[in-house]
Amino acid sequence: MKLLRVITLNFNTTLLHGKTKGKTFLGETTTPIFQVNAFSHESPEKLERVFNNKAPGYAYSRIGNPTITAFENKIAELEHGIGAVACSSGMAAITMTLLNILFSGDEVIAASGLFGGTIDLFGDLSPFGITTRFVNHISVENIEPLITDKTKAVFGELIGNPALDIVDIEKVSAYLHEKGIPLIIDSTTATPYLVNPLDHGADIVVHSSSKYINGSGTAISGIIADSGKFNWSAERYPSFSGYEKFGRFAFLSKLRNGIWRNIGACLSPFNAYLNSIGLETLGLRMEKACNTAKQLAEFFESVDGVTVNYPGLPSSPYYELANKYLGGKGGAILTIRTGSKENAYKLINALQIPLIATNIGDVRTLVIHPYSTIYAHANHEQKVNAGVFEDTIRISVGIEDAEDLIGDFKQAIDKTRSEN
Ligand SMILES: *Cc1c(COP(=O)(O)O)cnc(C)c1O
Repeated sequence: MKLLRVITLNFNTTLLHGKTKGKTFLGETTTPIFQVNAFSHESPEKLERVFNNKAPGYAYSRIGNPTITAFENKIAELEHGIGAVACSSGMAAITMTLLNILFSGDEVIAASGLFGGTIDLFGDLSPFGITTRFVNHISVENIEPLITDKTKAVFGELIGNPALDIVDIEKVSAYLHEKGIPLIIDSTTATPYLVNPLDHGADIVVHSSSKYINGSGTAISGIIADSGKFNWSAERYPSFSGYEKFGRFAFLSKLRNGIWRNIGACLSPFNAYLNSIGLETLGLRMEKACNTAKQLAEFFESVDGVTVNYPGLPSSPYYELANKYLGGKGGAILTIRTGSKENAYKLINALQIPLIATNIGDVRTLVIHPYSTIYAHANHEQKVNAGVFEDTIRISVGIEDAEDLIGDFKQAIDKTRSEN
């Protein structure tokens, strides 16, 4: 295998030819699907070494599989991490990350405008003695009053889904590191194409790779990447006792040898394969979807009676942060308010192109009424903080031609107007 060491590669080239291209067996151009449970070895001694991580190799696909490794290595490289661990879903990735760190009695600070499933998860952790304190946006000002000796992690989404707020991760992580607290960032909606949170001070980055990384909505999965920079001292993080000898690999070693392996939230090789294929076009898809999202947002700004929330618009309070972290882009999700639930439903019903579905990051444009679906469980305050009102529609912009999408929204708005 040729290694490209001499030149620094840009995003799309790294995706296809980066140093983690993977081992080839017969010169295959992508890692094939190793759809097997177990790997046999020539002697019990060899299996013992592989099983106990004393020799490279594979023993059982819950613990490791070449197709999954290829996907993990690619994400680790793209996110500038020291390693990555793939999981059966984005929720599993978040759960495994939190359980790898937290102990009964610990506290977490999280944003209340997070993905609904993550908010519910924090509730599920409470019977295990883990308390979550919510702030309406992750900022130094908001988290400072809530920090105690028991605060062991801060969790935020780089671009909140569906709040579409942006965390100033450099400021927040610098503040947290003085206190010995890690910053965990869910970067699903930002993707490694727009930003590498680990380069800006985040300690762990998680993704629901079901979304943009997969790209076509063909597999549920999640992934965790580690910067290797946080000091998991057993004094503050007692469950890390015994893992300190792994140095910067302490978090990943503990995860792989403990909760992740034993809970069994592993990714299937077939889904890892679908993700690796989808990943190859991440740059192209994001470029297109972000440009279209911006055009669509500008179109909505020109429509009377519709308000739009999109961090890539100068009218957004997060415009500066979008420029700072997302290279002048605003991501591929926007929300609009239509005046009433009735208007929102009429508009959704009048659309001809977008699919009505609870997902994001598909090549197809998707719309949803979050208030009655993904945010139905949230309380009033959480809904307000997430920008989810009765008249809100969330649009996950796909890669269709922008003029077709704008045309469709235009005809749908005109149609609902003529009916009113
Ligand atoms: C979808 C999503 C999740 C959950 O991921 P699953 O793959 O559905 O389990 C977590 N965070 C964000 C921001 C998401 O959009």
